Amino acid sequence: MKVEIITTGTELLLGEILNTNFTWLAQELNLRGFDVLYQTTVGDNPVRMKEVLDIAAGRADIVITSGGLGPTRGDITKELIAEYCGLDMYMNLEVWNHIYDLLSRRNICIAANNEKQALVPSGAIVLHNGVGTAPGLVLEHGDTTFVMLPGPPFELKHVCEQELFPYFEQRFPHLGIIKSHTLKLRGIGESNLAEMLDDIIINQSNPTIALYARHGEILIRLTAKASSAEEADALIAEMQEQVEKIVGAYVYGYDEDTLPEVLGKELLFRKQTIAFAESCTGGLASSMMTDVPGSSEYVKGSIVSYTNEVKNQVTNVSKTTLSKKGAVSEETAIEMARGARGVIGSDISISITGLAGPGGGTRKKPVGLVYIAVADANGEACRKYNFGGTRTQIKHRAAMAALGFALDRLKESSQTNAEEMIHDHDADR
Ligand code: ATP
Ligand code: MG
Repeated sequence: MKVEIITTGTELLLGEILNTNFTWLAQELNLRGFDVLYQTTVGDNPVRMKEVLDIAAGRADIVITSGGLGPTRGDITKELIAEYCGLDMYMNLEVWNHIYDLLSRRNICIAANNEKQALVPSGAIVLHNGVGTAPGLVLEHGDTTFVMLPGPPFELKHVCEQELFPYFEQRFPHLGIIKSHTLKLRGIGESNLAEMLDDIIINQSNPTIALYARHGEILIRLTAKASSAEEADALIAEMQEQVEKIVGAYVYGYDEDTLPEVLGKELLFRKQTIAFAESCTGGLASSMMTDVPGSSEYVKGSIVSYTNEVKNQVTNVSKTTLSKKGAVSEETAIEMARGARGVIGSDISISITGLAGPGGGTRKKPVGLVYIAVADANGEACRKYNFGGTRTQIKHRAAMAALGFALDRLKESSQTNAEEMIHDHDADR
């Protein structure tokens, strides 16, 4: 089933709003086995809208429009499609009663132009809109199915979920489905990852595999096309196993998981608390951690030790280290982590010091150079990074790397503990 989505509205063309109706619809329709092959955005202009409708009807089986079902003169989608199909409109009493009830309940005076919203092209199926005045509509015309949806995203989703998708399930019961599963990785660059997965990438067919670098992490999306959800899951599971055999060490989570959440769960599970000493990230890492509800269980505190003075006076970095090694150095990072752990009294602490740029870089210490250290009961460790990007990107990448480092450290310490436990156990015998 070839689908074209037409989003209408001059605001979209002016770049004033994001076309979230398209992204949402495209995802939902792909999941249900529809082939979304075209998307068009057109302003509220009758001539251009007709042009677009004509092209879409010529190349797609289903043409879905969003927007332009409102009460004003500028809302012209329904009128134009009715005209395109050569259909008259009639006042649908059910729709009118719904509009009347809804507006009365909201204490809104009914205006003459609300009647326009109760006009339905003859032969159209009405998709009830429980959260707004404009219903969705389905119109069969020749080989083409026209679907009209209201523009406000909340209304569009509601009408689709309650009315359109159930209708599609009945109308097109034999469509396969497409399912995606995302692996989330950190601690590795996109090109290294692509190289490691080269064989799988070259030989992909179903599922397909795609890599995306995003916000300091890498996503691997596996997408399978199958006749049932179970079949798609099985195809994905098989490929996931192959992928994880090669790069499983870098996978920290799946689909909706976020690194702060995963680290938080790990801390909670181990009943450990964390503290931060942040310089170039200005508190970003701890802010990300505290975005997670319930993080007060494990985030104990954070110091933004931005100047040398604060690094020395609050996080106890020695003046000698600062003057001899500099604020951006392994030694400073380690002393910051140790200091924050001591001052705040957490089980684990993490420090970040680096150059976010754009100015201030030298040959020895270029922009993007960041040291991240972790301190815990086993001592301290430091990693050196050279991040690329803008100031904001460097800050973000550094914060993500810091959370990743803390996660690694927790997992390593549990391995050490497990090994110690095995040793102890052996000794007992
Ligand atoms: P209304 O009754 O509100 O006029 P409508 O069906 O006529 O609804 P539009 O007027 O086109 O729809 O859009 C209403 C609002 O919905 C827009 O101002 C915009 O905020 C939002 N909107 C419209 N289209 C999109 C889209 N493609 N993506 C995201 N938001 C959208
Ligand atoms: Mg409108």
